[in-house]
Amino acid sequence: MAATRSRDDPDPGSSISYWLAASPGGAPRPSLTGATRADVAIVGAGFTGLWTAIALSDTDPSVRVVVLEQETVGFGASGRNGGFCQASLTHGLANGIRHFPDEVALLEREGIANLAELIAFTRTHGIDCELEETGGLSVADQAHQVDEFKAWVDEAAEHGEELVFLDRDTVRAEVHSPLWLAGLYQPPGRDVLLDPAKLVRGLARVCEERGITIHERTRVSSVERRAGGVRVTTDDGASLDAGHVVVATSAYSGWLARLEQHFVPVYDYVLVSDPLTPEQRASIGWHGREGMSDSNNQFHYFRLTADDRILWGGYDAIYHRNSGVGPQFDRRPATFEKLEIHFRRAFPQLGDLRFPYRWGGAIDTTSRFTVTFGQALGGRLTYALGYTGLGVGASRWAGGIIRDFILRPDSDLLRLRFVRSRPLPFPPEPLRSIAVNLVRHELDRADRNEGRRGIVLRALDAVGIGFDS
Ligand SMILES: Cc1cc2nc3c(=O)[nH]c(=O)nc-3n(C[C@H](O)[C@H](O)[C@H](O)COP(=O)(O)OP(=O)(O)OC[C@H]3O[C@@H](n4cnc5c(N)ncnc54)[C@H](O)[C@@H]3O)c2cc1C
Repeated sequence: MAATRSRDDPDPGSSISYWLAASPGGAPRPSLTGATRADVAIVGAGFTGLWTAIALSDTDPSVRVVVLEQETVGFGASGRNGGFCQASLTHGLANGIRHFPDEVALLEREGIANLAELIAFTRTHGIDCELEETGGLSVADQAHQVDEFKAWVDEAAEHGEELVFLDRDTVRAEVHSPLWLAGLYQPPGRDVLLDPAKLVRGLARVCEERGITIHERTRVSSVERRAGGVRVTTDDGASLDAGHVVVATSAYSGWLARLEQHFVPVYDYVLVSDPLTPEQRASIGWHGREGMSDSNNQFHYFRLTADDRILWGGYDAIYHRNSGVGPQFDRRPATFEKLEIHFRRAFPQLGDLRFPYRWGGAIDTTSRFTVTFGQALGGRLTYALGYTGLGVGASRWAGGIIRDFILRPDSDLLRLRFVRSRPLPFPPEPLRSIAVNLVRHELDRADRNEGRRGIVLRALDAVGIGFDS
């Protein structure tokens, strides 16, 4: 009899995320075959593609929408992320103030409303995605960050964001680690935790209940302008003629040459532990179950899952030459090892905790860390990408913007600079690799040098370019 693997003993060579492994995905959906028509073709069945489909059908239920996915629903970042779902549309308030000072107040309000609507949507449609309204906790593990935290409380308050400074004893009493020197607690309202695979699969279910067709294992290879619309063609030679096409392919968007300049795919890696025993759980505190991160340039993010495992991710952000993406990059033993070492420093009381789940995924990084929108083919093609590691919540808002481009061109939101302007482009190779790796090196140096930014980072700061995950 063939041995079956238990949920706590995944194939050691597997790079499937804990989320996708932990809950069944249902029967495979058929691929696109032959020649078909739709009003809107959406390429990519992650959060952006599916929220767009839902927004289109909310506004006009008669619009025929077909979603084409190269693998399966949630195959990309949407099925592999940390499950931190934040209100911010701008990769945090500080980044919003920096790049969109004139619009940040509106964007903050939009983001908060978007998160509330996202939560309400999951409840109305019975999507049980283990959503926890916990609030967030950033921790300082370097002395210079303590003063930065104190200063940030006041600046955030000026923009309506409530943050509570926690001193060393208070933050350690909340989550027991010898590393923390201070904390910034953000009360619930702007930050929830969820299971992203359950959310993305729930969105697919709602789409199908509304008559939206999703084809899996259907890789789009080209889009061309046709009279009255576009023709989308797949690797297998099937075609879909549509009035509009939405490109929602995130870090995999290299297939469309015109998008390459806007983003770099950056690999981010995650570990998920065995469930904690009651003794292990008691040894760390963390009764508020907040989503947590440290505050270095190369930062870790960490949280509890619904069944009390620890998810620990981040730190390395790896760029592969020629904007490489693919399954060959989903496992990176050197990063997994580094993450485990860092984890054991943060939680020495959990020295023997195993991490059976290890995976990576590609993040669509832009030079200003926020989503960018655009249109091509005479307005028949609309794209949105570039959330830079903070797209779980923002992708719902982006889906609404794409819907506005197609169905509500008079929408005020389309006039925002946030929507209209583009981030500074990344250079082509070989400069691209050189630049990204130089900046990574400089960020690492700053982390080891009390946060002091060298001349390269200061020059980039001055022109508003950055690199993050
Ligand atoms: C490891 C990791 C951790 C993260 N953690 C967080 C977090 O905690 N919080 C947060 O807010 N964000 C996080 N993010 C980012 C977040 O997951 C993304 O911003 C978000 O999921 C983007 O959704 P998307 O639909 O735009 O892209 P994706 O989910 O990547 O979807 C794109 C889809 O397009 C498909 N596709 C690509 N090319 C083609 C083609 N040619 N034809 C057909 N289909 C195609 C892909 O297979 C994929 O399914 C993380 C990302 C990663 C990788």
